[in-house]
Amino acid sequence: MVLPRKCGGAKHTLSMTLGTDPSGTATTTASAKGTPQRGFLRRAVRENIFPVAADIAILGGGCAGLATAVALHRLLPDQSVVVLDGRTGPDPRTWCFWDQGENPVPEAVTGTWDQWEIRTSTGTSIGSDPHHPYRMIHAADYRQAMTRRLTHTGAAATVAGLHIADVRQESNSFVTSTALGTVTAPTTLDGRGPAHLDPVPEGRTRLQQRFLGLWVHTTKPVFDTSTVTLMDFTVQAPNGPVQFMYVLPVSPTDALVECTEFRPDSHGDEPFRNVINSYLTSRWGLQAHEWEVTAQEAGNIPMTDTPPARGSVPAIGVRAGATRPSTGYAFTRIQQHATRTAEAIRDGSPVPLITDSWRTRLLDAIFLRFLRDQPEHAPDTFQRLFGRLPGPLTVRFLTEHSTVLDELRIIAVLPKRRFIRAAWTTFLERLRLVPA
Ligand SMILES: Cc1cc2nc3c(=O)[nH]c(=O)nc-3n(C[C@H](O)[C@H](O)[C@H](O)COP(=O)(O)OP(=O)(O)OC[C@H]3O[C@@H](n4cnc5c(N)ncnc54)[C@H](O)[C@@H]3O)c2cc1C
Repeated sequence: MVLPRKCGGAKHTLSMTLGTDPSGTATTTASAKGTPQRGFLRRAVRENIFPVAADIAILGGGCAGLATAVALHRLLPDQSVVVLDGRTGPDPRTWCFWDQGENPVPEAVTGTWDQWEIRTSTGTSIGSDPHHPYRMIHAADYRQAMTRRLTHTGAAATVAGLHIADVRQESNSFVTSTALGTVTAPTTLDGRGPAHLDPVPEGRTRLQQRFLGLWVHTTKPVFDTSTVTLMDFTVQAPNGPVQFMYVLPVSPTDALVECTEFRPDSHGDEPFRNVINSYLTSRWGLQAHEWEVTAQEAGNIPMTDTPPARGSVPAIGVRAGATRPSTGYAFTRIQQHATRTAEAIRDGSPVPLITDSWRTRLLDAIFLRFLRDQPEHAPDTFQRLFGRLPGPLTVRFLTEHSTVLDELRIIAVLPKRRFIRAAWTTFLERLRLVPA
């Protein structure tokens, strides 16, 4: 478990000095020596004393931006770090992950399950791994826990509601333009979420994972809190893309009920809400007056085997390739990459992109291709994966801890002909023998 360093005794301080940035303009500088650094940027914003200079600037204070700021503080407590984020309202997202001991904010966990199910029209598969439970964190709790660590350090500052217009390199520094002025830092990390999507190259696949999740409160107890429904394919249309329901039951009367679809494009206005309404009735017999929506989240996550592009500003989070191509999960990979990023900066090495082992990349590429081209076989395949394999093995695969033997066992339960077809078209396209 990577726990944050206790920093109550640390005496990090802030000096706000006026210097000049590369353009010769007066600059507010944060350094580790001087008076307390806490809130220096917030003060700069409030008093409008931009431009600001710091040792490290993090663009985007989402999952990766905050994780990286905390990791940097742990390894480089004397460096001043500023996190700039544009979000103005609350973050309604929920992040779940199989706990491998890499969650830096255990106190932010508000849901834990060690059993899950896959449902199809032909039956239900139950899986379990008590040593690596499935955990849930609300983004707002994560932000609060992370910000608390940074506030305690005194060496970092986060600024919310500040839109980043542009970032450019000037001599040995990056200059980030915001609505209020510039932030200059020799080390700048870009964690502003997914980069602009270009068409994927030949031989590569991209699916958009689109979903709408409703937090539902019911008037009677219906949810089984012992088990997460990872995928319920009973909602998938016979000739439609992969579509399933995902249910996180936090109490007998409260659950996140989500409708997810994997489709090759991000167009179309899917009637997710209607699907959810029907599901509440068909699965739990709930009538419209017996439930209400208390909150909602929506997403459109690109899942692709295209390697992330290296930009001029080092990337973190999903921009650095954190999204697992075959599943869309990113939370744990973001935490791991945050540590690796801080280590690279400490060691003066380039910040790495997130790349998997060749075996994981190969399996993911074939799996993604299979989901795109043969969605009608997805329910049966997921049921085999979760039903015929031991829970801990499935979790090892989903968290990139699988061994060669694990992967051979996975291949053994997959429908061979369908996966050979998916592998064959992938290889042919990559060899440019047939058009994409
Ligand atoms: C609704 C939803 C649910 C998800 N659930 C899971 C899950 O359960 N498990 C899992 O493993 N993964 C999940 N993911 C995928 C992934 O973990 C998240 O997308 C994660 O938040 C990615 O982290 P990030 O830091 O790269 O991006 P984000 O967390 O999106 O952070 C990017 C930040 O950059 C800021 N920003 C962007 N542009 C600008 C700008 N111009 N100026 C200033 N600020 C800017 C945004 O305000 C945002 O705060 C989910 C994704 C979504 C969308």
